[in-house]
Amino acid sequence: MSVAVYPGSFDPVTLGHYDIILRTAQVMDRVVIGVLNNQAKKPLFTVEERVAMLKSVTSDLPNVEIQYFEGLTIDFARKNKAKVVVRGLRAVTDFEYELQLAQTNRVIAPEIDTMFLATSLKYSYLSSSMVKEIASLGGDIKEFLHPQIAANVLKKYAELNQVRR
Ligand code: ADP
Repeated sequence: MSVAVYPGSFDPVTLGHYDIILRTAQVMDRVVIGVLNNQAKKPLFTVEERVAMLKSVTSDLPNVEIQYFEGLTIDFARKNKAKVVVRGLRAVTDFEYELQLAQTNRVIAPEIDTMFLATSLKYSYLSSSMVKEIASLGGDIKEFLHPQIAANVLKKYAELNQVRR
């Protein structure tokens, strides 16, 4: 059985992430999305909220599963018996970092390979951080996210603004 892990912050999951998830699910028997629990990145959503959002958008994909993890991606891959780590490549700016990460991982875990999927053109500019910046400034984010995720982002900023007042 072919198993891939797709690690990331998913803060929150965008249509760009979803495109990579769909395409991976079509070529692998099982896809385990790993939501990184990394407080250092100061995420907008808790890891539980990010997992729940991914579950809601992938509920109709039977071979996709969501877990959260801490620590090394390769340990997460080994735990799930995955031979492949999937990453999305948007532009040249992603390339250097992703190449370094993939090569380092291959030294410490030679049995696991990284596979890159080139982003679909229409999502090549899209990132969670850009979406958050637009939302925090009151902009429209519905082109970038599933409707229920966009609603969650707006709700989160409304709550944060209440706290600040
Ligand atoms: P990380 O903190 O690991 O960069 P992200 O949630 O930002 O986590 O991204 C997870 C993965 O999804 C990365 O491989 C990233 O390149 C990819 N990705 C993010 N946005 C897009 C997009 N719009 N199209 C394709 N891949 C994307």
